Amino acid sequence: MLRDLDRVLYHESTILVRLDELAAQITKEYRDLELTVVAVLNGSFMFMGDLLRRIPLPLRVDCVSVASYHGGTETTGKVTFDQLSIPDVKGRHVLILDDILDSGLTMDAIKHKLGGLGAKSIKVCVLLRKLKKRMAEVDAEYVGFDIGDEFVVGYGLDFQEKYRNLPCIGVLLPEVIEAGFAAARAAKDKE
Ligand code: 5GP
Ligand code: MG
Repeated sequence: MLRDLDRVLYHESTILVRLDELAAQITKEYRDLELTVVAVLNGSFMFMGDLLRRIPLPLRVDCVSVASYHGGTETTGKVTFDQLSIPDVKGRHVLILDDILDSGLTMDAIKHKLGGLGAKSIKVCVLLRKLKKRMAEVDAEYVGFDIGDEFVVGYGLDFQEKYRNLPCIGVLLPEVIEAGFAAARAAKDKE
């Protein structure tokens, strides 16, 4: 898998040092509140595990399942929720965790959904934030790293459901992305 990368942006050790800092900040700011973490699956599973074990607060964890990419490398602009996974956040202080803030459409949709369910406060924590103009007016209060506007994989982030278990974050070789798209087209033609 590593050899499919053009470049590593963040090694595991760098990510974990940054998570120590983020966790300390979150712990301090929520120490007198009852915190409910809502993690956005699948992309945030590794981030969630590593971050939350560094936060020594009696928090609750819920997960929501949404999709907006559907196998490509750009957002489709349509965010779909797995209705069964929507947590009861009425009256709770919610911290939404996601892998990456890109167009902002996903986070905007989740914030609206949880706000509509009566959350007392909602803040956002993302591992990565792309520096670009967003399609929705949304930002994160806690950010691991700001990155350029390019497609990244690893540490929970996938390309066609692969590379999520890479311990680092990196950029795929263009030919690997091309080959992935070609394979997807071929599989579709066969249907
Ligand atoms: P947004 O709605 O902000 O455009 O996209 C958010 C979701 O799209 C993220 O939670 C993530 O699953 C996916 N996404 C956005 N940018 C990237 C990227 O560079 N790499 C990967 N693998 N997924 C991304
Ligand atoms: Mg995601």
